[in-house]
Amino acid sequence: MSEGPAAGGQASSAPLMGHASEPTLFELSQPGRRSWQLRTTGIPEWGIEDLVPAEHRRVAPVALAEVSERDLVGHFTRLSHRQYSVDLGAYPLGSCTMKYNPKVCDAVAALPGLARVHPAAPAELCQGWLALLVELDAVLCAVTGMAACTLQPAAGAAGELTGLLLMRAYHEARGERRTRVVIPDSAHGTNPASVALGGFEVTTVPSDERGCVDMAALLGVLGPDVAGIMLTNPNTLGLFEEEIVEMAGAVHEVGGLLYYDGANLNAILGVVRPGDMGFDIVHMNLHKTFATPHGGGGPGAGPVAVSSRLADFLPGPRPVRRTPSGGGTPVAPGSVTSGTAPGEYGWSWPAHSIGRVHSWHGNALVLARALAYISVHGGDGLRRVAERAVLNANWLRVRLAGVLDVAYDRPCMHEVVFSAAGLKKRTGASALDVGKALLGEGFHSPTVYFPLVTDEALMVEPTETESLQTLEALARACERIVAAAEGGEDLHAQPTSTPVGRVDEAQAARSLVATFDARPEEPRE
Ligand SMILES: *Cc1c(COP(=O)(O)O)cnc(C)c1O
Repeated sequence: MSEGPAAGGQASSAPLMGHASEPTLFELSQPGRRSWQLRTTGIPEWGIEDLVPAEHRRVAPVALAEVSERDLVGHFTRLSHRQYSVDLGAYPLGSCTMKYNPKVCDAVAALPGLARVHPAAPAELCQGWLALLVELDAVLCAVTGMAACTLQPAAGAAGELTGLLLMRAYHEARGERRTRVVIPDSAHGTNPASVALGGFEVTTVPSDERGCVDMAALLGVLGPDVAGIMLTNPNTLGLFEEEIVEMAGAVHEVGGLLYYDGANLNAILGVVRPGDMGFDIVHMNLHKTFATPHGGGGPGAGPVAVSSRLADFLPGPRPVRRTPSGGGTPVAPGSVTSGTAPGEYGWSWPAHSIGRVHSWHGNALVLARALAYISVHGGDGLRRVAERAVLNANWLRVRLAGVLDVAYDRPCMHEVVFSAAGLKKRTGASALDVGKALLGEGFHSPTVYFPLVTDEALMVEPTETESLQTLEALARACERIVAAAEGGEDLHAQPTSTPVGRVDEAQAARSLVATFDARPEEPRE
């Protein structure tokens, strides 16, 4: 079916299934084999006897894999060639913003002056780091239209929990007990989970036929026990909530706060600010919008910016500039703690802080990457990011309109939701089949079966980094897949050209093999 390149840069078209083709390091292990080692310095070493009491010493050597450097590098390089990644091609995984991340950000994060500083270093020894954090804090406030920011949360969901704890602290400080948080039915799954973790109950509001929050339903659920609402705008269907100002008014009217899930700021950067829409709390996923490679559990950062009435509750300590000269930097509430240390920058605890939400100051190198990304783009550049992200999604919406069903056929923001419901009815091919077949065409799959409100959803987020030629290639791949299904081809076996073919997801969940037994069956020579 496919003439496109195979995914993962796989040179051979022979399918390499499962682990069979690449042994584990333990299987590559040969007794006594070593990687490159430094010669000894000649300085006498302490014996283990001097340091560890006998009862705590290992009696037999630990069974680690013994491999040469050549075997080690070969192993990981082969594995990396079986991966699909943002560096390899388009990755239209909706809601995840899997865009290409400029290498300049990694170069900055690798600078020894940033990478080798211990988080416990005293403020006077890391003035550069503190200046970076203070500047990032100010820029994120400017982007979101907020007054103050915490850089500590380690990812989006951690930012959400922080935001909900801020909501709780704010209401409690006013002597109010509010128990419910309102969430639209199109929301990202982390939203209701964070609400539950924050000790609130979830009240769901339905979407209307245009894919936006049903205003009448919202008014029906608001009341004095509502702590706030969690929204994302554009919402998870990629659509802009046009009645956001009215919604904000109604929530504030009952004393509630508005939380903005800003995981994907791509759509609005430099165009509109959550603060201007009436939001009080915003989390941002720096690993999505601001260019840190993520996925596979890589590091993230989910800073939370708040309006002035919530600033006193922010987690501490916050990086601050102590001298008011220079202007434009946020003056944090509370006192500077390391007051005796010389230097322009220090740490400060907000007056009614909810405490730490990270053991140190957040995932610092992700923060450094974000400031590098923002600095190379500048204000105009960030606005172009948003314009191109939105243009690319709308281009695909129109280009693919006759190929797949468009869930809500009106201009979208940075992502567009298609539906394979019609295709499934006609041919039996589901959204999952289309996504899997796209892997064989050399693309990553869109997000499938999310948002939940769309039947057989295929959520495509092309991002601003893909060219017109790539978008056209993606559209043609979709056309080939749909034509194959219409022509009677069974897509259930797809993909056949990737290192791993279709996996049995139910079987994988039911009999998960999470361990590898390193002990050789036979003693080795
Ligand atoms: C990705 C995402 C989150 C969660 O962010 P994590 O960093 O994965 O915890 C929350 N909301 C939306 C809309 C997202 O796209």
